[in-house]
Amino acid sequence: MFMAILVVGSVAFDSIETPHGKVDHCLGGAATHFSLAASYFTPVRVIAVVGKDFTAENEAVLTRRGIDTQGLERADGLSFHWTGAYSGNMSEAKTLGTDLNVFETFEPKIPDVYKDTEYLFLANIDPALQARVRGQMPNVRMVCGDTMNYWIADHRANLEKVLRELDVLLINDGEVRMLADERNLVVAAKKVLAMGPKTLVVKHGEYGATAFFSDGSHPFRAPALPLAEVVDPTGAGDSFAGGFYGYIASQPKLTPAVLRKAMFYGGVMGSFAVERFGTERLQNVSREEIEQRFKLFQEISHLDHAEE
Ligand code: AMP
Repeated sequence: MFMAILVVGSVAFDSIETPHGKVDHCLGGAATHFSLAASYFTPVRVIAVVGKDFTAENEAVLTRRGIDTQGLERADGLSFHWTGAYSGNMSEAKTLGTDLNVFETFEPKIPDVYKDTEYLFLANIDPALQARVRGQMPNVRMVCGDTMNYWIADHRANLEKVLRELDVLLINDGEVRMLADERNLVVAAKKVLAMGPKTLVVKHGEYGATAFFSDGSHPFRAPALPLAEVVDPTGAGDSFAGGFYGYIASQPKLTPAVLRKAMFYGGVMGSFAVERFGTERLQNVSREEIEQRFKLFQEISHLDHAEE
């Protein structure tokens, strides 16, 4: 049974520099990376706004993957534009510019055909927008969300409102520490869980991800694939979220086993995303490649078959 995911978040143009090269205004945005990754598992519907500079070819990147773009509004002005750079081991993006452009005045409207969507994903964007979309979807089965330092620093009150209503929050370890104002990750995770989410999935970049639970069950750690070449880490986190949530939505029920597998599928999609600039790799993965890499993830992290 395949349940659909409704995602709200940035659809953007990214200008990125990494030690492997430079791209200017390539298709990006949190909702874009998320949708592409999730589309390999379940139907996806997008709510976002783009400007006049967003071309039919840009939109076709989404629709070719079967992503429903009826909720993609076109406004006068320019699309969201993010400029970032990575250096050294590329573990963290340095934001050089965030031009919200058409997102500044965006009033999200949910098309009627989207209203029955079972799963909601609040991808990285202004928490006020996340809250407005959440408010228009009172009957969703599960709500999962993301955010980043940009919003944690200056939009705290709105963000706290969003956190109170989340089933799952997916953020990276630096953001957990920032949100909790606490250096120790386990203590920080506990503080973040007290803000609302039932599950906190902490992404550790090249070191995998850890899930913490508010019901007191012990955490679960999933690996990341050691990759010889990382070309562009942009979108790895959103792709992790897409694989994670896409897999959950494709399953009849969220059990602890489904959550654990979802953590692995998240890692699989994140590992594909970083192999090329922008969305290039995520546009062209096959389900077979996904399953092969999932098996590889199992092999590199399981002790069950180890022989003395
Ligand atoms: P990540 O998966 O964390 O690497 O997310 C990268 C994507 O986030 C890029 O494609 C950007 O367009 C987008 N992005 C960067 N800053 C923001 C922001 N402040 N709000 C929403 N999206 C953003």
